Amino acid sequence: MDAYIEFKNVVKRFDNFVALDHVSLQIPKGAFVTLLGPSGCGKTTLMRQLAGFSEPEEGDVLVDGRRMNGLPPFKRNTPLVFQEYALFPHMTVYENISYGLKLKKASKEEMDRRVEEMLEMFNLKGLEKRFPKQMSGGQQQRVAFARALVMGQDILLLDEPLSNLDAKLRVDVRTELRQIQRRLGITTIYVTHDQDEALSMSDIIAVMRRGRIEQIGTPWEIYFRPANRFVADFVGTVNFLEATVTQADAGGVTVAYHGMPLRLPAGTEAAEGDPVTLVVRPECIHLAGRDERPPQGAVLEGEIKNYSFLGRIIRYWVQIGQETFILDDANVDLTGARSGRVTLCLDTHKLHLLKGGDADAAS
Ligand code: ATP
Repeated sequence: MDAYIEFKNVVKRFDNFVALDHVSLQIPKGAFVTLLGPSGCGKTTLMRQLAGFSEPEEGDVLVDGRRMNGLPPFKRNTPLVFQEYALFPHMTVYENISYGLKLKKASKEEMDRRVEEMLEMFNLKGLEKRFPKQMSGGQQQRVAFARALVMGQDILLLDEPLSNLDAKLRVDVRTELRQIQRRLGITTIYVTHDQDEALSMSDIIAVMRRGRIEQIGTPWEIYFRPANRFVADFVGTVNFLEATVTQADAGGVTVAYHGMPLRLPAGTEAAEGDPVTLVVRPECIHLAGRDERPPQGAVLEGEIKNYSFLGRIIRYWVQIGQETFILDDANVDLTGARSGRVTLCLDTHKLHLLKGGDADAAS
């Protein structure tokens, strides 16, 4: 992979606190990369090293092979859009968007043309004479995007830009933003702690914790093939099943879960006798008896303890022995949720195996 943006062993400390601990990340040109992680894990700090608002103590930040360390922000061509739109309140939409062009002494014709393109792209036509306070949060956020893109840079940095919008609008704006990003082919780094946003928008996700990157992968890899318990837990709801490997060969791995053999596909290194943790997403467990077919895959018996109707799905909490499993049933019908004893089927081909049992649990 050719890296367009590269963080090489970046270390950033605040007094004795290590905010970035030897972070390395390569980003190809045109990619949409999300930094995902809990509050305080270092996402914004990493982005700031690229934008030039902060300098690493160790390591390099490269763009197209050029070292950025030491360059002031205005020489880096990396506009940053924040959660707080940071629009100039006393300027109209037109003036806000054209601000950078004006500083660069662009002609009136050029300003008009470029602003017009942005108004079109972000569906802001007709609003050019309004002031920020005369617009909704969603419209203000669009102006902030337009202002960042009007200069034609090929990198865009977005730091939780949608957090101030309501849930429905967030989904609309993220879809639109991703379409525009693809159309322009602009390399984008996006900071969020919202896993849905990360999964739905990104080409690549880097999951961070305590100043380190825990895993870099496609949304699919991060969700179905998490590198450890922390990643599995952070990117969605998950069940962890402690098991032991009873057989490992070229065709796959067999594990025993409470004495029940589960056969998993090849691709995981494990040896007989190894304690392992199975990562099971709620949608990989099904309630048996939804159709005429006999239960498929591995079968467990349990009792429904609780459920929650979420529209698209019903989420169930089912007790099996001492453990509670969470499962999502997409087969929602008008008769409501089930109760009592049920049979569960596990999609063994969708299970993921992590080496080590409970002892390796990452907090
Ligand atoms: P959030 O999602 O809450 O924005 P984040 O992952 O973006 O979190 P950062 O803002 O990068 O986290 O901060 C990482 C850590 O570094 C935090 O513990 C924060 O308190 C600390 N930190 C950030 N900037 C400074 C600073 N200027 N001085 C001291 N500590 C700082």
